[in-house]
Amino acid sequence: MRVVRTISELKSILKKKRDNAIGFVPTMGAFHEGHLSLMEQSIIENAITVVSLFVNPLQFGPSEDFDTYPRTENKDIERLEKIKVDYLFVPSVEEMYPTEPSIDISLHERTDKLCGQSRPNHFDGVATVLLKLFNIVQPNRVYMGLKDAQQFSVVDLLVRDLNIPIELVGLPTIREENGLAKSSRNEYLTNQEKQDAAVIHRSLLKAQKLLINQGIKEPKQIEQIVKSELENVKNSTIDYIDVLSYPSLKQINNLEDTFIIAVAINFKNARLIDNLILSAEGKTIDLLRRNSDATNDDAR
Ligand code: AMP
Repeated sequence: MRVVRTISELKSILKKKRDNAIGFVPTMGAFHEGHLSLMEQSIIENAITVVSLFVNPLQFGPSEDFDTYPRTENKDIERLEKIKVDYLFVPSVEEMYPTEPSIDISLHERTDKLCGQSRPNHFDGVATVLLKLFNIVQPNRVYMGLKDAQQFSVVDLLVRDLNIPIELVGLPTIREENGLAKSSRNEYLTNQEKQDAAVIHRSLLKAQKLLINQGIKEPKQIEQIVKSELENVKNSTIDYIDVLSYPSLKQINNLEDTFIIAVAINFKNARLIDNLILSAEGKTIDLLRRNSDATNDDAR
């Protein structure tokens, strides 16, 4: 026990305890180093870390891979035994959705572009499960990967619109040695495709380099640089290459503020996404902390 004699000390101790309470990492499992990096950051910053593993049917379209999504629960549990995650929450679909949801969550900002175009209602499903999980876990901090930058941006807005009392922490994308962003869906790729897909990250870095060295100011030029690289990837098609403001995901005419270069490529059995978030000067932004009071975003 510790004896405290001043108001300020007591307040500061309790604030720290309150602030350092629960960190939460929502996932769909099939853990790789990307997931683990989020958990490790949560363990550093919070007294308790809760991870959820739930393949959420609501966020998959009818022709998507809900049934075949990699489910490796035993291996996942083994991996977590080695780090200091306190609780792994693995609910069944019936536990999460005992009845048809009586409320439709329908998002209409930041969702109509990038992945939202080919995955209608995907983010509605993500928002529904996250709101439920936030209410169940009541975390102080939530850790998400900036690899899924649109998801982060959508949740950022959700937190603000609904005044959800959490700090949302966006962390860097963890990559294979060749630059391919780690993803549970990389399992669907052949070895050759994994090699070929390395060009995705390389193309983004090339655009960044030219931006810095040549002072490119037009989004279209950036898109063209990335496109010229990605067109050469065998047996794949480009879904989108877009340069938008970040996190607001608006069309921009010049690179004056923080922006994202976002790409999605279809291989035979997998759709891969990747991005770079950059300052106007071309500096990589790979850590974001947002809460319901965040205002350093352009007006909506
Ligand atoms: P998922 O299991 O795919 O839903 O991902 C759970 C969380 O892990 C999300 O916040 C993702 O953005 C994050 N994540 C996935 N891949 C990576 C990666 N390569 N690096 C960092 N975070 C990642």
